[in-house]
Amino acid sequence: MIILFMNKIFLVDYNCFIYRRLFMKHIYRCRVCGKFVEVSMHCGIHADLFLDSAKRIRLSKLLSGLLRHYPWEIGVNVNRNGWVDIDDLVHGIKTRWRNKELYQWVTKEHIIAIAELDPKGRFEIKGNLIRARYGHSIDVRINYEIYYPDTLYHGTSIDKLKSILRDGLKPMKRCFVHATTSIENALETGRRHGKPVVLRIDVDCLKKHNIPVYKATKDIYLIPYVPRECIVYD
Ligand SMILES: [Zn+2]
Repeated sequence: MIILFMNKIFLVDYNCFIYRRLFMKHIYRCRVCGKFVEVSMHCGIHADLFLDSAKRIRLSKLLSGLLRHYPWEIGVNVNRNGWVDIDDLVHGIKTRWRNKELYQWVTKEHIIAIAELDPKGRFEIKGNLIRARYGHSIDVRINYEIYYPDTLYHGTSIDKLKSILRDGLKPMKRCFVHATTSIENALETGRRHGKPVVLRIDVDCLKKHNIPVYKATKDIYLIPYVPRECIVYD
């Protein structure tokens, strides 16, 4: 595996990193305060198991897919800012999704619990509406704050390295290039696509090119395009 860090390329043993797998905890509901929590004790007593880890991962993936890429598969309306009515979403999943028989247990509260506790801030809720916070391939307008962090990383796979260093980073099927302040997150992303490579993005270079950097969550940033000269490489 190649890691690009501090202007240098490091070749490191593929197995020397402990990767975070896609793992999600069970969700419990506290019998006292009513909150959704990831611990089995809350407010001093045992909380009720509300959604087990396997179902949570499955529904979370489906929500990401529907809200980012294919809402029409279940006939829900997405407004221009990406919002979808949660009741419509539940109804659509249970009546129109191709594997709907796997999701007959889904309620509005399951969706709210998943959104509230998502470890990467994938979802945002406002009243009875939900949207994906980032990652869309469908055209939506979300008013992100422009913010240039000190360091940004982009995770990809080794087979894409050559074209990236030639052409820069392009959004491909999505609306933005995704970058992160967390090298671990970048590694995890790269790993999903093959042998991972972590590239460092020169944030000052983006500023000089007047390319905006949008803050989507506390550690995920979106960039329209990263020219090759803003990718650090010796
Ligand atoms: Zn509680």
